[in-house]
Amino acid sequence: MQYHIKDFILKYKLPIIIIICLLINIILFSNYLIKLNTKKPKFKEIKPLTVFTGKINYYEPKKIKIQNINPSIISNKTIYLTFDDGPSYLTDTILDILKQENIPATFFVTSNQIFKYSNSIKRMYAENHTVALHTSTHKYNYIYASEQNYFNDLNTLRMQVSKITGHKPRIIRLPGGSSNTVSKKYNQGIITRITNKLTQNNFYYFDWNIDSKDASGKLSKEVIYQNVVNKIHNGTNIILMHDSSTKKTTTEALIPIIKYAKKNGYTFAKITKNTPSIHHHIKN
Ligand SMILES: [Zn+2]
Repeated sequence: MQYHIKDFILKYKLPIIIIICLLINIILFSNYLIKLNTKKPKFKEIKPLTVFTGKINYYEPKKIKIQNINPSIISNKTIYLTFDDGPSYLTDTILDILKQENIPATFFVTSNQIFKYSNSIKRMYAENHTVALHTSTHKYNYIYASEQNYFNDLNTLRMQVSKITGHKPRIIRLPGGSSNTVSKKYNQGIITRITNKLTQNNFYYFDWNIDSKDASGKLSKEVIYQNVVNKIHNGTNIILMHDSSTKKTTTEALIPIIKYAKKNGYTFAKITKNTPSIHHHIKN
């Protein structure tokens, strides 16, 4: 028997080697095909740039009823009070003052404490103010690194506001204003591209033409008051103020500013898409 097998192998040496080689090739090739099918792509999947169309169905809360208070009165001497960087524990104090004075304002909010003070956001909306977007993180090195970062960040905040009020704002203020040059550090030309894209997609961005300067250190209420009343003029006055948690003196300056303005024939309005655009000169 042994002799027969040995004899057979010797006789058919070449075909046997060829068959074994073929079998090995078939096994290797099928392994390669299996791997090829299960292999993950090497590149990272990039989500498309989110441009808001309003078509996505997010959870919407019960519509908040807007109270018939704080009406906008537009005249040839109109003041638009704007508060950036909130909400914070100070926001309700500002809302109380506005209600007492029966005037509207505009709040450019961030995500920082948005759910902690979601009732303040609801109040803004219900009491006929404009709830507007400042950006979610307010982090320059993130939002100004790319358009995608900026719009993803903005969209996050927009959906958060929508969860609270049932409405997706289209009024925007860029952190640092549209004239900021700090963004050059992160991306050349980013502000030009962002503002173009905002405008093309029916968003309305607003800067200011009067700065209370309350962002620069801890100013007294008297200095904030002077910074504002010395600059108000005929026409459109968009006043920059802040309602972040360190700006207590801003809330203290608010009543004297409103009293002065009313006494001098100014009216108050909230920013809407029809408000005259106050745009800084874009430098990046
Ligand atoms: Zn800000």
